[in-house]
Amino acid sequence: LPEQEAFDIEYWDLEEAKLQRMPKPKPLAGRIALITGGAGGIGIASAQRLLDEGACVVICDIDRDALSGAEERLRTQYGKDSVAGCWVDVTREDAVGKAFSDLGWIFGGIDICVSNAGIASASPIDETSLATWQRNIDILATGYFLIGRQSFQLMKAQGIGGSIVFIGSKNALAASAGAAAYCTAKAAELHLARCLALEGAVAGIRVNVVNPDAVLRGSRIWQGEWAQQRAEQYKTSTDELESVYRERSLLKRSVYPEDVAEAVAWFASERSAKSTGNIINVDAGNAQAFTR
Ligand code: NAD
Repeated sequence: LPEQEAFDIEYWDLEEAKLQRMPKPKPLAGRIALITGGAGGIGIASAQRLLDEGACVVICDIDRDALSGAEERLRTQYGKDSVAGCWVDVTREDAVGKAFSDLGWIFGGIDICVSNAGIASASPIDETSLATWQRNIDILATGYFLIGRQSFQLMKAQGIGGSIVFIGSKNALAASAGAAAYCTAKAAELHLARCLALEGAVAGIRVNVVNPDAVLRGSRIWQGEWAQQRAEQYKTSTDELESVYRERSLLKRSVYPEDVAEAVAWFASERSAKSTGNIINVDAGNAQAFTR
């Protein structure tokens, strides 16, 4: 090569290498994310994942102690300017309305909403009280409606669309004995997400669902009657449940909150810009395992 050309090539390579080594902007930098049930297992793991990707995160929860503990933990890890905590009972229209109007006032809007708050109750249908039935519907169907509706209002007012992620459940699609209230409420939540996806498209609002199966580690759902009932069903102890679920899964692997958070981050970001009204099952292949 002539001397000048050789120099140009080397110079160009150097510039390319320099560009590649420059820190890349984080995918969610500048985004505001709200996570309900953010003080608990899947919620806090999702908060950490979105914070890792550069978002500012507001965690909401009904449990004040857990909320302040989670807020403190996240602030220590990511800095106090990136994290805020907000008390909310997702079943209360006034509380949800107040939280969203505060968010609108402080941040001008939100870009991401992860509706995750939840409970799970277990009882045979003939022993299920109306109060239990109602509680599942209130939190998992009505609560998701209230959060979805307020997100729509705020995202539409902001005018740049957004991403809403519902944490569903394998039980939204597959019935489970002794959990009719939970399964029915989760099915309603899933269908609500599909309706919101249809309505939101024109405003650039995407709505998707992550369906986990049996995330035992870090989940308070698995510390109560739900775990007890499942242990009886599989004739094992609650301590052995994680390995039981692992062994009956197609992949022979446990699902952790971080695995669910990974799917949440994908739906929250522009990486999933062409997806709405969709589901990711994070279930170690269980949905397939049951149909083999
Ligand atoms: P978790 O109990 O650890 O966390 C749920 C959080 O929601 C808690 O912090 C709780 O205080 C909060 N919450 C409950 N009621 C609320 C209300 N009315 N308003 C505001 N916050 C409220 O449970 P998790 O396992 O992290 O579950 C999170 C979501 O994942 C739930 O929707 C659950 O149905 C779903 N899910 C969990 C599993 C699993 O195996 N853990 C499987 C499938 C789906």
